[in-house]
Amino acid sequence: MAAMRIDYEKFASYSAPAPRYTSYPTAPEFRSDWTELDFAERIAASNASKRALSLYFHLPFCRSACYFCGCNVVYTSKEELKDRYIDYLKREIELIAKTLDFKREVRQIHFGGGTPTFFNAAQLEKIIALIRSNFPNIQKDAEFGVEIDPRFFTRDQMKVFAQGGVNRVSFGVQDFAPKVQEAMHRIQPFSITQEAVNIAREGGIKSVNIDLIYGLPFQNLESFKETLNLSLTLSPDRVALFNYAHVPWLKKTMRKLDETALPNAAEKLKILKLAIETFENAGLKMIGMDHFARSNDELYIALQNGALRRNFQGYTTHSECDLFGFGVTSISEGVDFYAQNFRDLPSYEAALDTQKAPVFRGISLDFDDRLRKKVIMTLMSVFSLDFAAIESEFAIDFEEYFAPELAAIGALEDDGLLAIGDRKIVASETGRLLIRNIAMNFDKYLKNSGSLERRFSKSV
Ligand code: SF4
Repeated sequence: MAAMRIDYEKFASYSAPAPRYTSYPTAPEFRSDWTELDFAERIAASNASKRALSLYFHLPFCRSACYFCGCNVVYTSKEELKDRYIDYLKREIELIAKTLDFKREVRQIHFGGGTPTFFNAAQLEKIIALIRSNFPNIQKDAEFGVEIDPRFFTRDQMKVFAQGGVNRVSFGVQDFAPKVQEAMHRIQPFSITQEAVNIAREGGIKSVNIDLIYGLPFQNLESFKETLNLSLTLSPDRVALFNYAHVPWLKKTMRKLDETALPNAAEKLKILKLAIETFENAGLKMIGMDHFARSNDELYIALQNGALRRNFQGYTTHSECDLFGFGVTSISEGVDFYAQNFRDLPSYEAALDTQKAPVFRGISLDFDDRLRKKVIMTLMSVFSLDFAAIESEFAIDFEEYFAPELAAIGALEDDGLLAIGDRKIVASETGRLLIRNIAMNFDKYLKNSGSLERRFSKSV
């Protein structure tokens, strides 16, 4: 196998705050004067397109805070709060059914959180029944994924998932080292994760993903080597290796992490290098800046075919779908809009109590937004950009329209991050790790947004 040619020093020298581009425009650009009326208008246009649907359900509860977590979470142990949430999900689905054509084909369903498996088996069964009774056209081979906390996962829940059609699961691990687990306030011995993976596989799940994080307190090369080796004994089909984004000014719980124990940039780089080499040697191919998958995995095949796309869950092979999110904080995405639900339960419930879609902000995309979204998402997903393909879709002259941007990325070409030639931009292996630094050159909003320091995490 050819070794990857990554210039780690160059990679480190580019460490700077940059958006992760799970959307374009990015969430800070969503407008609070974009209301449920705009949403209804965009839904009507989406119906007219007859595009297939991808459905996301946000299940926000967790028992206690993991200090590294950047998700929108409600901490509780009250069962009645979860039952009440299911009632409101039902109300939201019934309300949105008045505008969104639920008979459209559903090709993808995803449960995220929070901890979806913090809902018990009976509650999960109720949620799945709610979805299946409202959406009559869920495809037999639809991808149905659930994020699972191994500390809260039982055979009864797996039974419900198997009957409900769940075929992909993603386990949150982060790191197996006890000292790191203690520092991040998440005690999860290896045996618990191993048992959870066994339950999933025995329950018929074919695709198992493991989530790891590098850059956490007390991590070092030796301890992370052990985490990598233990992860591989679970034979994951996919691995996501996230760079810990320390943004304590945005997430209060991150202030509880011992900042003095965070590994420095050089140590993080060594850990990343080790992880990439370990996974590549184990047959897990690198996809973009933070994902790995086996060569027969849909993600890797989509990357080879140019069909991979970025979305709020990371990467998707279903770029042909319009995404509709349900539940607190969830985001919907159509060809020309983004809409986000309220992030707190009282506001979410209050909107539904008055029969209003619980949208608190969003954005309609104009021509330039859609064009730049295409350019940025293509770079983020397939790490190259064919000018002719963009020209034929948007009827522009690429070199003319993006003359300043092409001039700006000339410096990145000099640094070996990309090559421009044959009317294409192609990221190098180092450039793939820094793809968001490349993509941000095409972001119109960044030019006017001042300091990025407090808005986005660093790329290294
Ligand atoms: S990492 Fe997962 S389990 Fe921990 S607080 Fe965040 S959502 Fe909850």
